[in-house]
Amino acid sequence: MRILVTGGAGFIGSNFVQYVLEEHEDDEVVTLDALTYAASKDNLAGVLNNPRHDFVEGDIRDRDLVTDLVSDVDAVVNFAAESHVDRSIDGAGPFVSTNVQGTQVLLDAANEADIDRFLQISTDEVYGQILDGKFAEDDPLNPRNPYSATKAGADLLARSFQTTHDLPVLITRTCNNFGPQQHPEKLIPKFIQNAADGEALPVYGDGSNVREWIYVEDNCRALDVVLRNGTIGEIYNIGSDAEKTNLKVTETILDAVGADDDLIEFVDDRAGHDQRYALNTEKIEALGWEPEYTFEEGLERTVEYYLE
Ligand code: NAD
Repeated sequence: MRILVTGGAGFIGSNFVQYVLEEHEDDEVVTLDALTYAASKDNLAGVLNNPRHDFVEGDIRDRDLVTDLVSDVDAVVNFAAESHVDRSIDGAGPFVSTNVQGTQVLLDAANEADIDRFLQISTDEVYGQILDGKFAEDDPLNPRNPYSATKAGADLLARSFQTTHDLPVLITRTCNNFGPQQHPEKLIPKFIQNAADGEALPVYGDGSNVREWIYVEDNCRALDVVLRNGTIGEIYNIGSDAEKTNLKVTETILDAVGADDDLIEFVDDRAGHDQRYALNTEKIEALGWEPEYTFEEGLERTVEYYLE
């Protein structure tokens, strides 16, 4: 399979590119990335010289470039996005532009080409918060911050191209990822860094917000399973069942780094902060996938990576 991976110099995308090239020795990957502040070509250091990999610096909103690249692949996996909730609260413009319009450009190009699969990477945040129980794939979308609203928009556009144009779309909605190559603005890398430097760890509100955490390698394996074995037109939740309050995550990081609990600093809560996300994962489990890493095992590897 020849795959166009957009956003492949970011956190999950770069882990996915490496995973595919390692696991599938006949596959070829073209990485398209605009190299925004969130990206690093270093994330792809291990594959830049791989003859089965091409890196293209460019924007998913560049219609001519995207049309050209999509015409030459069997599958598209769209990771490219503005991804940080706090930045979307400061200004939603770039989020609408890349996450919604960029996805539309990719969908248009895929629709004109002859591709076998279009995997749209979405998030558990599109469902909004849930205080009890878990979200299933057919639950209504109720995004509550600008980031998740634009991801929901992209998700719905992708679904509409499947129903109206018969485009072979698949959608995944994954919980919070953590692991190597994540931008240090995100909670886990930032807190590891601060703990190691003896700086305060700013916890929103009272730290009681709950997130489900998945080690990025487990997510990449799940995305690969959906790309190859998922049923066209279906949505797959990807979760780990590892639910943790932000405070618990913070304490676990302090413990792993060997830093003191008094570095915890409670700060004003994020506006519209969702209390809890949780995913029902029966559908992807039916494809034979389950996570391999516990939260603690994943965190141990992650702490080791950032401290190095
Ligand atoms: P990231 O911010 O690390 O990476 C995003 C990548 O997209 C960057 O390399 C950036 O340069 C690129 N990009 C941004 N705008 C672009 C544009 N206009 N054209 C081309 N490239 C562009 O994000 P991530 O955490 O790796 O997330 C990847 C995808 O997974 C996103 O779609 C995100 O919504 C989704 N997701 C992330 C998580 C998570 O916990 N990180 C969970 C569920 C879903």
